[in-house]
This record gives sequence, C-alpha cells and structure tokens, in this order.
Amino acid sequence: MKKLTIRTKITLWFSVAMFLIVALTYIVILSVSNQVIQKTIRDGLIETVAANVDEIEYFGSIDELNNSNDVDYYVYYGDGLLEIDDDFLDSVNQIYTSLCLEDGTLFYGENPIARETAEMDFINEQVQTLEVEGTLYYVYDIQLTIEGLEGLWLRGVVSEEQGNVEMSSISRMSLILLPSIMLLAIIGGYLTARRMLRPIKQITDGAAKIRQGNDLKERIEVGEGKDELHELADQFNQMFARLDDSFAAQQQFVSDSSHELRTPVSVINAQCELTLEQDRSTEEYKEALQVIRRQGRKMDRLVNDMLEFTRLETQPERYPKEELDLTGLVENLCYDMALIGEKGIELSCEAVPGVRYNGNYELLTRMLSNLITNAYRYGNENGHIRVRLNTADETSARDAHHIILSVQDDGIGIAEEEHEHIFRRFYQSDSSRSGAGSGLGLAMVSEIVRFHDGEIKVESRPGEGSTFTVYL
Ligand code: ADP
Repeated sequence: MKKLTIRTKITLWFSVAMFLIVALTYIVILSVSNQVIQKTIRDGLIETVAANVDEIEYFGSIDELNNSNDVDYYVYYGDGLLEIDDDFLDSVNQIYTSLCLEDGTLFYGENPIARETAEMDFINEQVQTLEVEGTLYYVYDIQLTIEGLEGLWLRGVVSEEQGNVEMSSISRMSLILLPSIMLLAIIGGYLTARRMLRPIKQITDGAAKIRQGNDLKERIEVGEGKDELHELADQFNQMFARLDDSFAAQQQFVSDSSHELRTPVSVINAQCELTLEQDRSTEEYKEALQVIRRQGRKMDRLVNDMLEFTRLETQPERYPKEELDLTGLVENLCYDMALIGEKGIELSCEAVPGVRYNGNYELLTRMLSNLITNAYRYGNENGHIRVRLNTADETSARDAHHIILSVQDDGIGIAEEEHEHIFRRFYQSDSSRSGAGSGLGLAMVSEIVRFHDGEIKVESRPGEGSTFTVYL
C-alpha cells in the first residue's frame, strides 16, 4: 500500500467507498420495495374482500330472485338462497375469496389453503398472517351482517409471494444499474484524480530540475489554476525567489567583504616588502609598524562589523527585546561620546524625560553610536552635533511610530543622489572612501531599525550638514 501512487490510493479508497454505497443502496432499495409491495398486496386483499360483500345477496324464496341476464350462482342457505355474482370467483391478483361458516368450514368460493385456515379464528376486518409450508399468507375476514346472511364470513386469502415477480425485476434492474453507475463513478474518479494531481508531478520535476541545475532562477510551471496545488507551486516559486535573493545578497556580501579586506592586506604586504628591501632606521621601522597597525585595526573593525551583521541576520534571538529607559540610554551615550571632542566638535543632547521603549539595549546603543560616529567623522572643525529624543502623538508621527530620535550635524553633507545608496553595505562616497569607515555603519543602523520595526530617514545637502531621523 505504501508503494502505491496517491492517484491509485485515492482511486482504491474511492472504489471501496463506492462499492459499500452501492451495496447499501441495493439493500435499501430491496427492503423498501418489499415493504411497499407487501403493503400493496395487503391493501389489494382488503379492497377485494370488501368489494365482494356486494356480490352476495339473500333471497327468502326463488320467486324473489332478479331476472337479469347476469351469469350468477345460487346457493341454498338457511331458509332462503344466496345469489352470488360470477365476479366473486375471479381471483384478481391471486386473491381468493370464499364464504365461510362460523366454524371455519368453506361454504362457497375458492381458498387454496382452506384446510389450514379452517383452524383460524375469524377477526373482523383485520389482516392476519399464516405460514403454510414456508410460504406466508395474508388472511382477511369480514363478517356479513345483512339480514339473512348472519353466520357467514367472507374470507380473503393471498400469498405474499405474489410480489416476487416485481421484486425480482426490481432486483435485476438494480443489479444492472448500480454496478454500471459504480463503474462510471470509479472511472470518472480515476480520471479526475489523475488530472488534479498532475501539478504534483510538475512540482516534483520542477524542484528536481532546480536541485540538479543548482539554478535558483528556475521556476515551477503548473499553468493557470487557483486550487491548493497551484497555491503550493506558487509558494514554492516565492520561496525559490527569496532564496535566490538572499543567496545573491550573500554572494554580494562575500565578494564585497573580500574586496574590502584586500585593500588593508595589500597595504600591509606592500609596506612590509618596502621596509624589508633594505636596512631601515628605528624611526622608519616605527613608521612602517604604525601603517601596519592602522590597517590591522581597520581589518579588525571590518571583521567585527561583518560578524555583527551576520549575527543579527542569522541569530536574531541573540538580541532579546526588553522594556528599557531610552532617555537614559541616549543621555549616557551622548555623555560618553561628547568626550571624544574630535575636531573641536561640540555634542549636545536634548532628550525628553522618561521615554521607555521595548527594544534591545545593545543594538540601540550601537545604532546611535554609529550615527554619532559618522557625525564626528563627516563633521567640520568646531562643528556641532545635536542629538534629540522626542515623542509625538501617534497621529503626527510617521506611520504610528511615536518615538523620534535624530542626530543632526553641520558637516560636509550628502549629495541628493547618494541618499538612496548610503544605507547599502560597503557603500562609501568617493570623498569618504579613504577614511576610517568600513562602509558598514549605516547598513548596520538600517538593519537595527528594521529589527525594531522602525523607519529611518535622512535629510542632507552638501555643505549644509545632515540629519538622520529614526522613528520607533
Ligand atoms: P562609513 O564607514 O564610510 O562611514 P557608513 O555606512 O557609516 O560608512 O556611511 C556610508 C556613507 O554615507 C559614508 O561613506 C559617507 O559618505 C556617508 N555619510 C554617512 N553619515 C554621514 C554624515 N553624517 N555626513 C555626511 N556623510 C555621511
């Protein structure tokens, strides 16, 4: 059973179910038909016996008889005689009617089981049953009460087998019709299952093709349709598209990082080779070592940034969110970073008190410190950095974020066309390429904002400074 295809399994289950339904239907048809036929037989018996009451007339003497042309029968009874219509003897639908005396003996008429019924008690206008040699008979009696007929009973007898002809023709028809319907349903079911499950084969083939060719650009083709299997193929295709995107991003990251690491490595190699070419003074060795240390630090920063990035993407559970005092975080960090005092830049902080936020302390600190570091790095001599933390009504803040954190500087600014690129990994404007940055600072900021379901926006013009605003 386990090795069968889904199509065969469905067809098998369907066939078994159909067989049971057909068998049940056959039994129900036979039993209902039998009940209806038996009731019709009993009704026919009652009707015939009741009708025969009018076929008997009593006359006190021969002189009183009707002189009609009917072929009637005359039997002496009591002091007079009975005139019995000839219809009385016709056994309609095998129903026999007879006249019986009070003691059960047959007086006139036909009764195939007269001997057996003679033992039966009369019950007025009630159908009784009697089994004779394995056959069931219905017996129906009417007591005659018309003057002169006292002491006579009209007894009708009919065998239940009378319905056998009808029953066997119903059974024959059912045995031809029901299996034909069953066969048609099974063939129809098999064909429908085959047609409906065809996309599964296409999905399997498509997935195998993608696996063999290692080509995530391949898509599963199942044609038009809106059922569950088309939905499944659609989900697979979306998954492949996502995998393709993240694979491409991963490759880009690897290639960008190797590219970025190559520069300091080349500088270190070149510096070493140049220094070792000939004997150098202590001063010259010191200078060479300083260059090597600078490049080593740059590589260290780069590797750390890359590691942090990967961690945030692949292990977000390492950064649990908790309710924290955002005002305290901003004020403390500003206090610490104001001590940098690089290029004579002054850092000021305006934070509304008591702002609480559900986020990750480490990441939020990293985000703000990256923004402030950039403000120092791209700030002018004796410039200013303003850090502001504010809250706003949900209606006035962007997309219902109600915490606004901004870092404003009066530094070199960023050209309009660069705004959309600065958040990309390793992007550095030409003017800042040779600087101390790794090109990962803002990409990390944007990743942290995304992690907190926030938004970031930049306003900047060359020579007029920049403002980075984070909405949480
Ligand atoms: P980097 O390590 O080069 O600073 P970032 O990702 O932090 O990398 O920033 C990307 C680029 O955006 C920088 O190279 C710089 O050109 C520009 N930039 C970022 N912050 C500022 C700022 N406050 N003022 C001017 N330019 C900025």
